[in-house]
Amino acid sequence: MVETIESVRLDDLAVGELANFFDDAEPEEVMEWAFDRFGDRTAVVTSFQREGMVLLDMAHRIKPNVRVITVDTARLPQETYALMQQASDLYGIGIETYFPDTDTVERMIRRHGPNLFYKSVDLRLLCCHVRKVLPLQRALENVDCWITGLRREHWATRANLKKIEMDHDHDGIVKLIPLADWTDQQVLDYISKHNVPNHALYDQSYTSISCAPCTRAVQPGEAARAGRWWWEKDAPKECGMHCSIETGGFEHEVEAIIGSNAHA
Ligand code: SF4
Repeated sequence: MVETIESVRLDDLAVGELANFFDDAEPEEVMEWAFDRFGDRTAVVTSFQREGMVLLDMAHRIKPNVRVITVDTARLPQETYALMQQASDLYGIGIETYFPDTDTVERMIRRHGPNLFYKSVDLRLLCCHVRKVLPLQRALENVDCWITGLRREHWATRANLKKIEMDHDHDGIVKLIPLADWTDQQVLDYISKHNVPNHALYDQSYTSISCAPCTRAVQPGEAARAGRWWWEKDAPKECGMHCSIETGGFEHEVEAIIGSNAHA
């Protein structure tokens, strides 16, 4: 149950100073600060990849009733649902699951077909917007600080991440990125040391995991996110949950499908 505490907002200056202060801090230290500052208006938001499971485990050690939020796009691999259940049972937590709006998905599929993401980058971004970005916006309405498992090593667009950022895409709440400077090896070491449950697809050469039709295993030497939307050339390997993407194309389709409240 979410405590009824007052919503807290920090300004850009304060967040900038905190980012400098916590630049070399351990992930647990950053999360402890967040739980103290924002209480139950703090949540781990995870898709149950390795980093999200590390954060869930760390957060649970600090605050056993930590809120955990996930977005279920309704196109996830079965292995993700299995891990979601395993994590819920192991940590004794209810996972706040947000789904895309049914009417919007129906309109999108009738107009563009079930596998629209293979047709063009704009239609892929449309699908990500409907199935991921909009449900996340709804999930974060009740949150002042969200904790995510992004790391600088993941991709060029993530190279400058701070451990604490102001999230202007989500009403100026705080975005906590405690593992920003962690390496792959640090993540693996934590999982091994603490026996953290691991997504089964990592054993099949996946290095980044999202929806089933948009994720494949990578070849040796490929970048970690090379298996995401692998058929696209020169497109951002982002879905819009962590950074707003504008192409001029998919936004028009969003408006057509959802109406003028599409970005609300
Ligand atoms: Fe749609 Fe693929 Fe994005 Fe999932 S990853 S929301 S299936 S385009």
